[in-house]
This record gives sequence, structure tokens and C-alpha cells, in this order.
Amino acid sequence: MTTLKDLDRCTYFPVDCEALLAVGWLGVDADYPLGEVHADFFEKLKALCAEPWQPVAAAGFHQCELCQFEGPRFSSNLFVPFGGCIYVAPIGIVHYIAAHRYLPPKVFIDGVLACPPMRSMQYHKALLVNGGRSLLNGRQNGLTA
Ligand SMILES: [Zn+2]
Repeated sequence: MTTLKDLDRCTYFPVDCEALLAVGWLGVDADYPLGEVHADFFEKLKALCAEPWQPVAAAGFHQCELCQFEGPRFSSNLFVPFGGCIYVAPIGIVHYIAAHRYLPPKVFIDGVLACPPMRSMQYHKALLVNGGRSLLNGRQNGLTA
């Protein structure tokens, strides 16, 4: 997986979407902030990551590089529309927080807490109004399985 700085534009996906910002794209060589998060945020994040909406099919698995041994593997990503942007995090962010004490940016925490349930009409509306039209169109064009 690509390592990206938090809140940098995320160009990882084959869709043209200016609104996508990266959160939690951690690798073994990347510095990342450490800290504690509120349990409410962690529970909501876990719920959103259980079956996250995907605009494109994931290209293979990524294994956690921060674990010394037997890091978990994951492939999906979480899209969080909030405040005129769409924050995209690998679902491994749940593991990064729980096991490696990663502290995501506050705006992402606020976005997760405000995020409508996956696959709800409100979630799709939030994607649209926060700049995600091309993500939704990509899905209609059959980019995903
Ligand atoms: Zn790990």
C-alpha cells in the first residue's frame, strides 16, 4: 500500500476526485501522531468499517507494516464525507488505532462521528454534497465488482 501523509490529496484511486484526502495511510517508515481517542469515536469507526461502501474494487491486500509479526491484512477503504471533503482511510485504521495508538486528525474524528450509516440515503447524499460525484459515477460505470 502507498504511504500518504494525513490530509494530503489521495490520488490512489483511478477516479478523478479533487475532494479525496488521505487519513491513516501508514507505513513502517512514516511518522504518525500517537495519542488516545474517545471510545465513542472508536466504536463508530468500527461500525463504519464493518462493511464500508466502495467506489472501486480494491486492488489486492495490504498487510500492516507496523506489526513486527503477523500483521493483519485488509483491502477495503472507508470514505467519510465531511466539511466539503471526503476523507479516505484504509479500514486497517481500526487496527492502527487499537494496536499502534495512531491518532487521526481531529477533522477526521469529527467526520466519523457525524457520518451517516453506510448505504443509507443520507450517506450517499453526503458523498454528493462533499464533492464525491465522480466516485458515485465511477461506481455506475462499472468500475467496481
Ligand atoms: Zn499492526
